[in-house]
Amino acid sequence: MLLDVYKILGVILVFAGLLMGLLMWAVNSKAYGKYRIRTPKTYRIPQSRKVINVVLNSTLSLVFLFAIIQTFHGSLFHFGEVKGVTIFGEVIAALLLYDFCYYFMHRGMHHPKAMKFVHGVHHYVRFPTSMESIYLHPVENLAGLGLLMGSIAVLGPISMEAFCIVFFIHSTFNILVHSNLMLPHPAFKFFNFLALKHDLHHGKHLNKNYASLTPFWDLLFGTYA
Ligand SMILES: [Zn+2]
Ligand SMILES: [Zn+2]
Repeated sequence: MLLDVYKILGVILVFAGLLMGLLMWAVNSKAYGKYRIRTPKTYRIPQSRKVINVVLNSTLSLVFLFAIIQTFHGSLFHFGEVKGVTIFGEVIAALLLYDFCYYFMHRGMHHPKAMKFVHGVHHYVRFPTSMESIYLHPVENLAGLGLLMGSIAVLGPISMEAFCIVFFIHSTFNILVHSNLMLPHPAFKFFNFLALKHDLHHGKHLNKNYASLTPFWDLLFGTYA
């Protein structure tokens, strides 16, 4: 049973990797590069440093995720039968709670000391693309994943289906908000909106748009731009 969860998470992570690659290609291509939100004149982080950071962070999150699931899976998810409406409710509740907690964690990380030693690594990227979604200080990487698992455990154990959907949405949204693309098709409207909001956070509104999944908490606490 637990093996099934690992298989599903594996598929989600492969999908996330492919999505990241596709968006990286798009943002650098002639066909889609024109939809870039902002294009830098020069990059201040060498490509090799980015690749090393991203590979190390990906490995770290894989190990951490495996350790957390092995140790706390009983508090995170169960394998009982549940109705579709219950799964839907669990997904919404877990994502809203996570986004609420993330809002304050992210806002806290903008404290000058946390910025200097931890969150500043991510903000050193002025023109983020999908790859830089995971260009982080390892402490921030672990804190983000720990917060997601902690939010689920507070509500949980939730159904295994809801757990996988929450993980899928969390992983893909983090990549999409860093896409740096405003794609013209109406189907991308919501993701364009999130990408634009997060780009502002990396650009001229450093102290706005802290939440990662919805604009809801920023609107509520007066940090929406
Ligand atoms: Zn920030
Ligand atoms: Zn970012």
